[in-house]
Amino acid sequence: MTTTSAATPSGTLSGSPPLADLGTCRQRLAWLAGGALAGMAAAQIGPGFAVLATFRPRLWPALAGLGVLDHVALTIDDGPDPAATPQFLEMLAARGVHATFFMLGAAAAKSPELAAAVAAAGHEIGVHGWNHRPLPRLGPLATYDLLARARDRIAATTGQAPRLFRPSYGVLTGSALAAARRLELTPVLWTAWGREWRRGATTSSVCATLARGVVGGGTVLLHDSDRYAPEGSWRAGLGAVPLLLDECASKGWRVGPLREHGTRWNRAHTA
Ligand SMILES: [Zn+2]
Repeated sequence: MTTTSAATPSGTLSGSPPLADLGTCRQRLAWLAGGALAGMAAAQIGPGFAVLATFRPRLWPALAGLGVLDHVALTIDDGPDPAATPQFLEMLAARGVHATFFMLGAAAAKSPELAAAVAAAGHEIGVHGWNHRPLPRLGPLATYDLLARARDRIAATTGQAPRLFRPSYGVLTGSALAAARRLELTPVLWTAWGREWRRGATTSSVCATLARGVVGGGTVLLHDSDRYAPEGSWRAGLGAVPLLLDECASKGWRVGPLREHGTRWNRAHTA
């Protein structure tokens, strides 16, 4: 099964038709998670996921990653991955841009030198969990243990003490919120994503999807691994990066990591 997405930056961030609905994998996970969450976390799941995600910035601006209006936070999940991460690092270095990389503990343990290289290049490091297992499948103790293990391993390999946490699939549980609080990790999701994990996604489709959601003060999600997506899907996201940067520059928005996204996010680092 190979569905390598086009990396050619042939699209633009505006003027493209909107994409279809959620991918089947995400849909299944959303249903799987149904009923397992409580409070604000419940808005991340269920058949109304896409609709609720639309309202998330208004309901929970901090959780959605809203920051200062002249800045767009660029966040990249699921690495480090030897196939993809170096290419993201190269692209971002060429453009002089830093991002926030939400790493998996298991991936950092497998590629410690690469994890260290991401931090050494000046990027911000966040925790994405240990192994991308959906949190609703875990009890409170397992949730805490895996999150603590991930934080500690990522800190050890990168030399940065992570202060941010993004749950796999964007699904938070009460246990995860409690564990994050104990570990002094601030949960953050996103306001716009490329959906490059959809089968058949291309750079153009990623740009079209982003075009619907990127706003000043928003947080963009891309992926630097295809471990949990069709093979090569990260290439579509990588191809969209220069177009995203150009589009943001044309609107006067800076692009950078969450630590540069305003005082709320600075506090997450200095608290
Ligand atoms: Zn992920």
